[in-house]
Amino acid sequence: MSSARAFTLIELLVVISIVAVLAGMLLPAVSLVRDAARQSACLGNQRQVLLALEVYAQDWDNVLIPMYRSTWAGKDWRDRLIAATDALPTEVVDGSRRSPALGCPPARQLHPLSTIGTPGVKTVQTYAGNAIITNEAAAWGFPAYPDAGTPLNFGHRGETMFINDGVWNAAGSQYSSGAYRNSANTIGSPHRGQGVIGWGDGHVSTLRRTQIDDYTVNVVAGTAAWRFWYGDTH
Ligand SMILES: [Zn+2]
Repeated sequence: MSSARAFTLIELLVVISIVAVLAGMLLPAVSLVRDAARQSACLGNQRQVLLALEVYAQDWDNVLIPMYRSTWAGKDWRDRLIAATDALPTEVVDGSRRSPALGCPPARQLHPLSTIGTPGVKTVQTYAGNAIITNEAAAWGFPAYPDAGTPLNFGHRGETMFINDGVWNAAGSQYSSGAYRNSANTIGSPHRGQGVIGWGDGHVSTLRRTQIDDYTVNVVAGTAAWRFWYGDTH
């Protein structure tokens, strides 16, 4: 009998199961780190977008960019922001200029329901804007600024949501607005149940799902939820 001792099947199985256990302990930690990196990328993205909104307003009589205009030929505020300012980094995807700063990293896969782009094809435009503060809300029966546009300089800007992580819906999630205001689905929370909010004074923060829901239900004049959508404009 040979003196060179081989692994028995049992020993091999023990080694494999120990390695599996160790890997199982490591993978959640890796995914936590990856999620934290995506969240901080999202915070950085939204900071850049807020800056671009400011640049746009300075060029356009100090009014906030509207969410949509019929003259924009099907484009929304995000396309317009890219076209009208040089404030965002851009890349060419499928022949059109897009900005990776306009999308939340975990949400870069396009939802099959979305009408923006090709279903299933990676997109980089997923942030939603506050359609109430940018005067689109009248279309849904809520008070809004006249078509001249919302002036950028109003009070309580630090308590007013300008942009957020967005959710996928049939409209492509480019805005959060009156029609969806009372739905918790208005604002996404793709960061382990948390959503990043870009505020009117240029700061960004992360809210838990329950905090987001507090802002999206029971929107009563004068409350924090009201200022979240309207600032002090009404
Ligand atoms: Zn995000």
